[in-house]
Amino acid sequence: MGGGIIGCSIAFHLARAGVIPLVLEKTAVAAEASSGGAGLLTAQAHTDDPDPFFDLKLASRALYPGLADELRERVDLDVEYRQLGHVVPALTDAEAGRVSARVAWQAARGLPAQWLTVAEARELEPGLPPEILGVGWFPEDHHINSTAMTQALASAANRLGAQVRVECQVVDLVRDGDRVTGVRTPTETISASTVVLCAGAWSGEFEAAVGIPLPVFPAKGQIVVARLPVPALRHVVYASVYAIPRAMGEHIIGSTVEYVGFDKGVTIEGIVDLLNEATTLAPALREAEMVAGYGCLRPASADGLPLLGPVPGRPGLILATGHFRNGILLAPITGQLIAELIVGGAPSISLAPFRPDRPFPPGPPPTAP
Ligand SMILES: Cc1cc2nc3c(=O)[nH]c(=O)nc-3n(C[C@H](O)[C@H](O)[C@H](O)COP(=O)(O)OP(=O)(O)OC[C@H]3O[C@@H](n4cnc5c(N)ncnc54)[C@H](O)[C@@H]3O)c2cc1C
Repeated sequence: MGGGIIGCSIAFHLARAGVIPLVLEKTAVAAEASSGGAGLLTAQAHTDDPDPFFDLKLASRALYPGLADELRERVDLDVEYRQLGHVVPALTDAEAGRVSARVAWQAARGLPAQWLTVAEARELEPGLPPEILGVGWFPEDHHINSTAMTQALASAANRLGAQVRVECQVVDLVRDGDRVTGVRTPTETISASTVVLCAGAWSGEFEAAVGIPLPVFPAKGQIVVARLPVPALRHVVYASVYAIPRAMGEHIIGSTVEYVGFDKGVTIEGIVDLLNEATTLAPALREAEMVAGYGCLRPASADGLPLLGPVPGRPGLILATGHFRNGILLAPITGQLIAELIVGGAPSISLAPFRPDRPFPPGPPPTAP
């Protein structure tokens, strides 16, 4: 249940494997976080330690180029996969120490990552401010259009036989004893051999039916879209906020992380904070025309990691939610692994670190990238 990028990716991977799924979506495909997502594929640029989550991010990033090509062939949609790379500027000694340490361990692991001096950085990215002390350069972290990606996955799944039913809200799970046997909508009961809960920030509404703690919090993110006749940047610039150059001089500037319930409103405070930080990172943005501002809700799990896999004690139910700031990046690998689980094989990457019944810290996760 859920027609965001996670539900659509799972549907596509299942349909491609010959299992025909039914996607039930409360409003429309890509109506929520998956259209608000900035589309960054940030696997390396903000990772300070190696762990299974980092490996999951790298695995998903590696699937993107092939998947973008495959979706173009299958449904003639361009998901705008753009090889932009990420620049992480350091403006203080503390930031320089942190970013250069990040570069060092990743490079030692054989990953593409470089610490650039001020002169090198300004040659790579002339839009940076004079105050920088150096930058981390992560040339393999790229960008897509998340709305196009979600719609392409839904169309491709549909072309392979999947049904995508919009304006269809799931109101409860149906059970036979402990086993989940389907879902209930306001008008009907739908049977299913497996139910996948991927309802984004709304997943927690099903906690009672799921039967285990489901700490998924709505984390509001505000974004500004701004336009200049000449792009301010060549690459993604990402420190505490990010600025992404798009086609036609458009820039995406994001994003806040706020725990304010299900409120998606755009606030003066949020926008002022964003723009102050973004214009420090890319001074040319001061001249930009503001085109739009919007807010969306990320599904933030208490520890910031996704909840992936079966629910112990609830056969027939799988969770795929809580992707927080990484749902666009993680959509391909989530779709692949959950499809592998349902089709009957073991997932090709262990889901143990992401099991839904792991212990969680109290409250929502920290807001830093
Ligand atoms: C401002 C912002 C910027 C972001 N930038 C990035 C980024 O650059 N890179 C990145 O990787 N991630 C980014 N993210 C995070 C990413 O967008 C999310 O992690 C991802 O979209 C989550 O996908 P989802 O399918 O789980 O949720 P959603 O896209 O929210 O989809 C869930 C769907 O479930 C539906 N639903 C809910 N309840 C029900 C119900 N009862 N019955 C039926 N349907 C239901 C909803 O209507 C919704 O369409 C960003 C998020 C925000 C808000």
